[in-house]
Amino acid sequence: MCLSDHALSHYKRGAQAPEIVTLSHCLPLQSRSIFISSFASNMDEHKLGYKGNDVLQDLEILTMNAKAAQELILRKILEKNHGTEYLNKFMNGSTDISAFKSQVPVVTYDVVQPYIARIAAGEPSSILCGEQIVELLRSSGTSRGEPRLMPSISEDLYRRTYLYSLIMPIMNNQICRYIRGLGEGKAMYLLFVKAETLTNAGIPVRSVLTSYYKSPHFLHRKHDLYNKYTGPDEVILCPESEQSMYCQLLCGLVERQHVLRLGAVFASAFLRSISFLEQHWCDLVSDIRIGQLSSNITNSTCRLAIQSFLALPNPELADEIEAICSSESWKGILGKLWPNVKYIEAVLTGTMAQYIPMLEFYSDGKIPLVCTMYASSESYFGVNLRPLCSPKDVSYTILPNMAYFEFIPLEDGRKLIEDDEVVENDTLVSLVDVKVGCYYELVVTTFSGLYRYRVGDVLQVTGFYNRAPQFKFICRRNVILSVDSDKTNEEDLHNSVTRAKEILENRNYLLLEYTSCTDTSTVPGHYVLFWEIKSTCEGATPCVPLDAQILESCCIAVEEALDYVYRRCRAHDRSIGPLEIRLVEAGAFDDLMDLLVSQGSSINQYKTPRCIESGPALKLLNSRVTGSFFSPRDPEWTV
Ligand code: AMP
Repeated sequence: MCLSDHALSHYKRGAQAPEIVTLSHCLPLQSRSIFISSFASNMDEHKLGYKGNDVLQDLEILTMNAKAAQELILRKILEKNHGTEYLNKFMNGSTDISAFKSQVPVVTYDVVQPYIARIAAGEPSSILCGEQIVELLRSSGTSRGEPRLMPSISEDLYRRTYLYSLIMPIMNNQICRYIRGLGEGKAMYLLFVKAETLTNAGIPVRSVLTSYYKSPHFLHRKHDLYNKYTGPDEVILCPESEQSMYCQLLCGLVERQHVLRLGAVFASAFLRSISFLEQHWCDLVSDIRIGQLSSNITNSTCRLAIQSFLALPNPELADEIEAICSSESWKGILGKLWPNVKYIEAVLTGTMAQYIPMLEFYSDGKIPLVCTMYASSESYFGVNLRPLCSPKDVSYTILPNMAYFEFIPLEDGRKLIEDDEVVENDTLVSLVDVKVGCYYELVVTTFSGLYRYRVGDVLQVTGFYNRAPQFKFICRRNVILSVDSDKTNEEDLHNSVTRAKEILENRNYLLLEYTSCTDTSTVPGHYVLFWEIKSTCEGATPCVPLDAQILESCCIAVEEALDYVYRRCRAHDRSIGPLEIRLVEAGAFDDLMDLLVSQGSSINQYKTPRCIESGPALKLLNSRVTGSFFSPRDPEWTV
């Protein structure tokens, strides 16, 4: 296939496995092997991917030597990157670890952004990183409405592959006592790539998953026992996400008896695909019946890849699927369509927890939900060593060879530290010194040019696996609304509501109060704003009545003012539905205050919560709704 060959040639030319291998000589004899086996075997491109249960032994050694591994990682990062403009500013070219700890400040994206912008414009990578930055990874975080771009070097792919290579051995280790033959079946994992662009200097800008799926690490996994996906790579790599989704579902349906695992990276994407199936199953059934792909699929690579799945008409299979899909309720549909499925894998922690009820509905609570890993564009972090546990009990064990990890202790349990607050260096806690039960904000130092960078995630320590701590994901700092990869904080919401309320003010109405929630009972989920509005018209001047058109224009005004990732999810990926404003009757927010005060809020310090997740407060507001209005169109969006 041409893309993988192209990607492979890139690897032959440039990329190398991390040099950590050589540094492993500084480790105790036993722990050297972890570095050697984690990375060195990857140097042979034909061995990329699955390396069997040996990786679990490596994991033991790695976690037992967490402290030494972290010291080694930091030493290596400083050796490679001490000459960069960024580190030089604080350390004067030193590679000394104590100089790093006392002099390099803890930063947020705004500090790194100017360096990334310079590299994007053509300045050498060396201003930030000792290695060539080969791509910029578009993260779901934004800064002033623009996507954040994370630097990435070739060897980062090896680190990501290492983490992926642990997933199935861990899973198999847990599951084989109950389920045999997992490797003999297939996985219907709905995986997607996103459009990529080039910076002025020609550096690709893409998502971390797009980068991985296009790499030989993913494409050359054929000998990996557990990585047989129903969707052909060509279909996964199709940039038109709806066409890709259609074809992936088609393949999954054709192979329904062989599918043992279902999943997607995030639960939102999995549910989006199931709702897509709800809308399109008639077309899919018809394709299977006549043995011909719908003409709506225009992508020629997808068409070619699907040919073998529809080689012959299959009316029996079409009848079976039709009978299942045409039932009135889709409760338990997943087990009916894929009768041999053993578990559903997706991220279900953090904001994705809101999708658990929907997944339980579609699986009728009978298929285990499995969360395997915790990762980001900045760095991959860790794995869940008990993947069969309930999603609400998931803890991730941080892998000490991914990056250098430090932690900002959060006082008073979870009191968050603002972006612009200075974090004193001596308050940082290293990976092995975190305390069980305490809350921390995660800080990473990577090989690719992030130094003491605040990732923005709040974690709680739940225990240790050997010497490596395990964390529960608590929340993303500041985020109050999130449906997919969007992350809207209180300030973003406030700014966008402020824009929209001008429309009301021009018509003599005032927005008295507002709050918000996400509604994931619809697929895709959407943002809901509760608004209490008051007329400011006095005496004889009658107000123009507030009609649906005005409120719809408020909806779209809010959406247009939300950040890039929200607008992309809404207008391009279609992973978020149109924003809704629910008008509530006069006095509803007073009643809300009474309720919250009765539940323990201080009346002196009461502030209307800008987001209400569930419970009696949400019930109260919903019971006072007088009208509901949706955005009439997509917000503006450009790549
Ligand atoms: P991105 O940089 O767009 O890849 O997003 C990374 C962020 O997604 C992380 O920093 C977390 O906030 C969130 N995330 C990733 N994996 C998980 C997980 N397993 N559970 C909860 N949140 C996650």
